[in-house]
Amino acid sequence: MKNLIKPSLFLLFVLLSTSVFAFPRNDLKPGGIAIIPVGSINKPKPQVFYTKKPVAVIKGKTNWLAITGISLDAKVGTHHVSIQDTDHIKQKHKSSFKVHHHKYRTQRLTIRNKNKVNPNKKSMQRIMKEMKLKKRLIKTFSQTTPQLSFIKPVSGRDSGRFGARRIFNKQKRNPHSGMDIASPSGRSIKASSSGKVIYAGNLFFTGNVVYLDHGNGLISLYAHLSKILVKMNQTIKKGQIIGKVGKTGRVTGPHLHWSVYLNGNAVDPALFLP
Ligand code: ZN
Repeated sequence: MKNLIKPSLFLLFVLLSTSVFAFPRNDLKPGGIAIIPVGSINKPKPQVFYTKKPVAVIKGKTNWLAITGISLDAKVGTHHVSIQDTDHIKQKHKSSFKVHHHKYRTQRLTIRNKNKVNPNKKSMQRIMKEMKLKKRLIKTFSQTTPQLSFIKPVSGRDSGRFGARRIFNKQKRNPHSGMDIASPSGRSIKASSSGKVIYAGNLFFTGNVVYLDHGNGLISLYAHLSKILVKMNQTIKKGQIIGKVGKTGRVTGPHLHWSVYLNGNAVDPALFLP
């Protein structure tokens, strides 16, 4: 009898501890996340940098944890983060992790609006301007401690996996930087976590789009909306409705494109879901 009780108590403990400490999954692939212990919580919170960019640092059970986003074009092999202590000693040290190979699928799509695949000169000018804006937005690093237990922003079938190599009208384009969720136009989209609106507007590829800053370089993006229901700088609660599903921008039909960025890198949003 005793032997039967013990495993179930252990399981209960595991369930409780994971719900209290809700972290994304550690997955050392290009487009994945490395969760790295960077010092005891008995010491002040250290600053961590990866590819020279600041990384989110969260309090774990016994250690501070660096929640590091790995770029989709990261090389397989050893990667380093640099850790800067913030106590009086201000020591610098390094920690490493190994990125393994991951084969992403290929997705072929046909877009009716040809200008969204082969943009004309005027559209190209707009795209270049918007690329700069996007780079700036995903580099946002505020001091807020992010809430890492995410919810899926809308119900629906996964219609485009993160990281897929994409071919639009038989032409190679960048890999898919988010998750596509097929959903009817007009369905409500919820904020995956609490945050602040850092952009709400219309862009060439994403159509109507909302960017949320969750803190410490954790950013989420909701694209192709038919309606935006939030304003710039607005504070958003987790689960709050921010817009409606639509088919604006480069799309084949109504769906939500949902991206998550960490330290400037697009990472697999599925790693944030239970
Ligand atoms: Zn997409």
